[in-house]
This record gives sequence, structure tokens and C-alpha cells, in this order.
Amino acid sequence: MPTSLVTGGAGFLGSNLCDYLLARGHRVICVDNLETGSLRNIEHIRSDEFAFKMIDITGHYEVEEAIDVIFHMASPASPIDYARLPLHTLKVGAYGTHNTLGLAKAKRARFLLASTSEVYGDPLVHPQPETYWGNVNPIGPRGVYDEAKRYAEALTMAYLRQQGVDTCIARIFNTFGPRLRANDGRAIPTFLSQALTDRPLTVFGDGSQTRSFCYVDDLIRGLVLLAESEVHDPVNIGNPNEMSLLEMAQLVVELTDSSSEIVFEALPVDDPQVRQPDITRAKDLLGWEPEIDVREGLRRTIEQSTERLGGP
Ligand code: NAD
Repeated sequence: MPTSLVTGGAGFLGSNLCDYLLARGHRVICVDNLETGSLRNIEHIRSDEFAFKMIDITGHYEVEEAIDVIFHMASPASPIDYARLPLHTLKVGAYGTHNTLGLAKAKRARFLLASTSEVYGDPLVHPQPETYWGNVNPIGPRGVYDEAKRYAEALTMAYLRQQGVDTCIARIFNTFGPRLRANDGRAIPTFLSQALTDRPLTVFGDGSQTRSFCYVDDLIRGLVLLAESEVHDPVNIGNPNEMSLLEMAQLVVELTDSSSEIVFEALPVDDPQVRQPDITRAKDLLGWEPEIDVREGLRRTIEQSTERLGGP
């Protein structure tokens, strides 16, 4: 039975990944300091093959057990979180990634870095292939996150080239699904909580900026395929189905049967205008592409959000 270690395993993606790995017969060690995650995301797990370790990975840490694969998911990930935790975000990207790569080296484990489409910044190439180097503002408010991830990618490649660690890098595009926090500032959970409580949906700017939203089950399947492959170069994992934020707000209103209106607010600094993954590499190297469309993904997410809000 393979053993996987998931840093950030009590977060949105990490906890969905723990469920998926356990269902595939892995032993899972979940490492988290609960900075933005919650025990609520893993409290349903009853398996004897699951262990939770409360660890802040910005400090040196060791794990006794043998480990086959490390999924390095820990990092504040929403704009609200990294604006609140700018130094922590940089430290997780630097020390946290360094410590976790060191653990992968000691355990001779395959290492997967959860990177992000934010490494492309406000892209001048559209859609974004992995060969595009990006257009990031290093000193803007989002710089702490974007540059932490770019640094983490550089560190990962250095451990691959110089230390012989078996690494891979997933560039994750906007993902949604059950367990996203209603108040974490990302578009879909914000729209959903507003629509489900009949409050106005707040769209930034004129809502014409685009995003490509991937349902969490598709994303997790892609991450595990990448971890199980022999690929070392970065791979985009995301849904190429692009839509404007205004269209997304309208779809949420429709699917929740809400009476909310849509209102417009000032655009945040450095908000990317477009975002769409070129997933040719994921298709060619992993045989992966998304299977769940945005409507179906939203329906599943709404069901879970309604349960959490105690609604109908
Ligand atoms: P999340 O905030 O729900 O999860 C992050 C987890 O990391 C939390 O459980 C948090 O407590 C933990 N963590 C933070 N600092 C830590 C530390 N010092 N030590 C131990 N644990 C720590 O965010 P998420 O959406 O699940 O994102 C997971 C990863 O995927 C992140 O690395 C993020 O950058 C990346 N990502 C996510 C998306 C997305 O759309 N969700 C998009 C691109 C990249």
C-alpha cells in the first residue's frame, strides 16, 4: 500500500485529495497547521489508514513513516488570505517548500508542487501554455503569492537538477467545489453565499474579465495522474472552458433560483483580465482533460453549500 503525505491536507483541495487517495487504497498522512484549513474538512474520515499531524511546515519537520509520494499543497491561496498573511505566504513558498523538498529527498519520495496559474500574472499570451514565462508585478499586493509560487517552482527544479529529487509541478487554474469557504474571497463561493442568502452578488469591475473554472474532482484526478507519471516539467491542470465573471454570476443566480441582483464594485489591483489554460501538455502526457462541466460542478457545489448553510 503506497503512503502519500499531503501538506495543506485540511484545506479545500488538500482534503478532497486525501479522500481520493484513501479511496484509491493509499495510506495518507495529512500535515497542516490549520492557518486557512479546518478540521471540519477531514472530520468525516474514519479510515485507520489516515493520520493528521498538526505541523507548521515553515519550520524544519520530520516524519517517521516511509513515504512514497508528497503532495505539497500548503499555502494561503485566496487573495483575502494572502493579503492578510503576506509574510507567511512568502515563508510557506520558500521555507515550507524547502523543508518539504528536503523530506522528499530523505524519503526518496516523488514530490508534487501545487503551483498556480498566477505564475503567468496578467498574461499577454492567451490561452497560457506552460512555455509562457508570465507577466507578474513583483511589488503589487498579489506579488507575495505569485512570487512565492515562482520561487517554489525554481526551488523544485533545483532539487530535481542538483539533488536528484523526483519532482513535478502542477500549475493549477481556478478550481471550485465542495468545502470552499464562503468567506474566502474567491468568486464562486462568494457568489454562492450571496445568492443563497438573497444578497446582491458583487462583481468586480464590469465583470468582463474571464476565468476558466475547473471542478475539484477533475482537478484532483489530474494531480494524481501527474504524480503517478514520470513528467518533471510544469503541467497546466485546469478547465479551458473560459467565461466572464459576469456570466458566472448570472449562472449562479439562475442555478440557485435566487432573487439577488448583481452589483459592480471597483476592480482589485492587478486583477488578471484573462485566464485560460492551454491543456495540450496534460492531454498528451497524462491523457487528462476535464469531464465535469461548470453547470454540473455548480449544481454539486450548491447542494453542499445549501447543506452547510442549513437551507432547503
Ligand atoms: P486552502 O487555503 O483551502 O488550503 C491550504 C492549506 O494549507 C490550509 O489547510 C492551510 O491551513 C494549510 N497551510 C497554510 N500554511 C501552512 C503551514 N505553514 N504549515 C502547514 N499547513 C499550512 O487553499 P486551496 O484552495 O486548497 O489551495 C491548495 C493549494 O493549491 C495551494 O498551494 C494553492 O496555492 C494551490 N492552488 C489552488 C487553486 C484553487 O483554485 N483552489 C488554484 C491555484 C493553486
